[in-house]
Amino acid sequence: MLNIVLFGPPGSGKGTQSEKLIEKYGLIHLSTGDILREEIAKLTHLGKKAKEYLDCGELVPDKDIVNMVANQLDKEKSSSGFIFDGFPRTCAQAKFLRNMLTERETRVDIMIALQVKEEELIKRLLKRGKETGRPDDELSIIRNRIEVYERQTSAVIGFYKKMHKYAPVNGLGTIEKIFENIVDVVEKALLPPFSV
Ligand code: ADP
Repeated sequence: MLNIVLFGPPGSGKGTQSEKLIEKYGLIHLSTGDILREEIAKLTHLGKKAKEYLDCGELVPDKDIVNMVANQLDKEKSSSGFIFDGFPRTCAQAKFLRNMLTERETRVDIMIALQVKEEELIKRLLKRGKETGRPDDELSIIRNRIEVYERQTSAVIGFYKKMHKYAPVNGLGTIEKIFENIVDVVEKALLPPFSV
């Protein structure tokens, strides 16, 4: 099993790089943002509740997120691994993920953290907003999402650092070059311990 946490601020390229990783390693994509948007489109109870948070760029409560992730993990019992995209976003979520994976006798192998500076994030998200009409890709909401990332989400880095699983990767450059750097990190994480 290979489990990757793909981490980074909004607009850092997690979705784009996830697609490429899935293609290469045959993993299941678990994007909490995508699942929430599906729930919103289906007008479910969770969707209606989540919409209020997404509309202003705040985090959906941990309790709702962890239930949602637990359901997804249960659905995909036989998969060869997961890419967690946009999750965990708080230390409570990171602890929950560790416990869920331990119960399944597996673990997060590596946390890849895409590094992109703020001006570039805003530029990319505004462009995506124009192209896709995603409602939270609007300037004041983008600013709040970045602030929420700094205030609540960046602490997750410390959690994985302590476990020696934190791998920062430059998120600027061509999609291909960034992907090459990510693959290098993944391949290193896959090497058995003590090999040279
Ligand atoms: P981005 O990383 O570009 O902000 P996402 O699609 O990952 O986009 O997330 C969009 C929104 O969905 C977030 O602003 C937040 O409101 C909600 N969300 C997604 N994942 C989580 C999570 N793990 N915990 C809490 N809220 C989440």
